[in-house]
Amino acid sequence: LSTITAQVSVDYIPEASYYKVEAVLRPWRVPQVSSAMLKMGIRGVTVSDVRGFGVQGGLTERQAGSEFSEDKFVAKVKMEIVVSKNQVEAVIEKIIEEARTGEIGDGKIFVVPVADVIRVRTGERGEKAERMMGGRTDMFSAAESPAA
Ligand code: ATP
Ligand code: GLN
Repeated sequence: LSTITAQVSVDYIPEASYYKVEAVLRPWRVPQVSSAMLKMGIRGVTVSDVRGFGVQGGLTERQAGSEFSEDKFVAKVKMEIVVSKNQVEAVIEKIIEEARTGEIGDGKIFVVPVADVIRVRTGERGEKAERMMGGRTDMFSAAESPAA
């Protein structure tokens, strides 16, 4: 358990209490990534179908030898996961573990500082809004309490 509770000290800039981990991934890897997220106590995830190009799209384009056109975009899924700062590295690590094939087109992850989190139902802000019932923080406090 000590390995998963380990605090990582990466200096993200700009400094914030919460960050959005935004991962653009191969669509067929997303079920695997999302179930891994649930297992590690990540309860809040937003996904969208997107299209894009990176080296993968570029290669297709060069092989085709034609002008860039919209049909060169590759279908991807964007997962957006807002977590507290001390959870960012664990989330990144897990996404890589579950999404990586080693081939061009595995995707990319962006880390974006989040100014505030507001829960619409209650109007809560900040830490109260970001924490989710039964989420990663609850998981660890339960594991560390003598009653558990
Ligand atoms: P409530 O307790 O009121 O249900 P909640 O925090 O569980 O609040 P929801 O209202 O269930 O939040 O969330 C609505 C949507 O917001 C989710 O379907 C998801 O797309 C997105 N979402 C919520 N939390 C996060 C998060 N931490 N990161 C990314 N997306 C999130
Ligand atoms: N940081 C939240 C918690 O520990 C979980 C956030 C999320 O599920 N995206 O409860």
